[in-house]
Amino acid sequence: MSSAVTPETNHHDHPHTPNPVFENSPTYQMACRQLDAVAGAIDIDRGVLRRMSLPKRALVVSIPVLMDDNRTEVFTGYRVQHSLTSGPSKGGLRYHPSVDLGEVAALAMWMSWKCGIMNLPFGGAKGGIGVDPALMSRGETERLTRRFTEEVLNVIGPRMDVMAPDLGTDEQTMAWIMDTYSMKVGYACPEVVTGKPVELGGCIGRREATGRGVTYCILEAMKELNLRPEETTAAVQGFGNVGSVACQELARNGVKILAISDRYGAIHNAKGIDVAALTRHVAGGKLLKDFPGAEPIAPSDLLLTPCTVLVPAALERVIHKDNAKRLRCRILAEGANGPTTPEADVLLSDSDIYVIPDVLCNAGGVTVSYFEWVQDIQQFLWSEDQVNQKLKELMLRAFHQVRGLARERKLAMRTAALSLGVQKIAKEKMRRGLYP
Ligand code: NAD
Repeated sequence: MSSAVTPETNHHDHPHTPNPVFENSPTYQMACRQLDAVAGAIDIDRGVLRRMSLPKRALVVSIPVLMDDNRTEVFTGYRVQHSLTSGPSKGGLRYHPSVDLGEVAALAMWMSWKCGIMNLPFGGAKGGIGVDPALMSRGETERLTRRFTEEVLNVIGPRMDVMAPDLGTDEQTMAWIMDTYSMKVGYACPEVVTGKPVELGGCIGRREATGRGVTYCILEAMKELNLRPEETTAAVQGFGNVGSVACQELARNGVKILAISDRYGAIHNAKGIDVAALTRHVAGGKLLKDFPGAEPIAPSDLLLTPCTVLVPAALERVIHKDNAKRLRCRILAEGANGPTTPEADVLLSDSDIYVIPDVLCNAGGVTVSYFEWVQDIQQFLWSEDQVNQKLKELMLRAFHQVRGLARERKLAMRTAALSLGVQKIAKEKMRRGLYP
């Protein structure tokens, strides 16, 4: 059946043709190794697998920006679309100094699997600019964002590729992209981005969606492990969009937050950190590490904090072969994308740590982004209750599908989750066939 569709089917060479453009990136290698692991666990057409191991397209742009001191600085930006098989591609835009093409390509691939697991009509994409947003003024950031939008204009659009906030970007970034795009097409086009301010057609609850989804997964895992939230503790790496909301939601459910970190430092309080007070402290422009209600600790110790739940919610590859054996948590809930390396995964599979993999755990963000896109297209707004109820329903459905498959096939949670996502897209690719 498949030979007409994918002529490569009969070749039994390595499924991942090395591509020099991406292959030097450790994060991209990691995404490919995960895909390899899935290919070993499920029956999948080799040609489709090859196609899925590389992005559909990747665009690299130079972004000249007039800085406040009248210098012209040139930044490098990326937009990678891994798949457009299931619908427009969807994925965040990150501003971080270490962003590179391979990392963005890996993140785009993960978005495809995530949308597959959640059964959303999207493919995966990701974008990034190599910049430290903390060193930019608001005006510089706005000019950077608008010029980047202009440079990628030909490959974005509500039916083509829809951006959302990620590391270092927020609602305001999305508002500038929406405005720039709308000025170009000549009419207001809120559906070109998600995670925008509510006044511009953003969805109530989108900002909190990822952290909420993380919390739903954690509470479900606790149920299975017979743990009562009020008797559990957590440590959270990152206090941005995902980390801060996860802290608030966990605390609301009775979980004691022992330790939190951000890029400037880490803090600990054995009696539990007052998350509301910390949120006010940070909102007041002060540093997390100066919070008076906790003691500073070494940032590298945060992940090793003895606790029930560890939530990495900052960067990739922070759990690796050198610290995986030293984690002291019962549940590892991956709020960040790609926090655990494949080497660490092998070590964790020997432990009793319950891993809730990123593609499932942080899928609440893209799920509510989907709700936002649907509302913008229909010009019909949902209530906050509708959003939250539907988010919970979809998260729990995906959680139990993954858990069920992991149990039935005796797979690691990550392999089970990725299998569901990869298989959905593989099926669609087979059905659509290979053009021409
Ligand atoms: P953010 O920029 O809002 O927050 C990032 C946080 O991480 C900040 O508190 C920052 O200080 C901290 N951080 C940076 N470097 C650190 C370090 N070395 N050690 C400890 N903390 C550090 O970003 P975000 O949107 O919360 O994204 C965090 C992660 O979650 C990323 O991996 C992102 O891809 C993923 N994610 C985000 C969303 C979303 O909806 N925003 C959805 C899915 C996944």
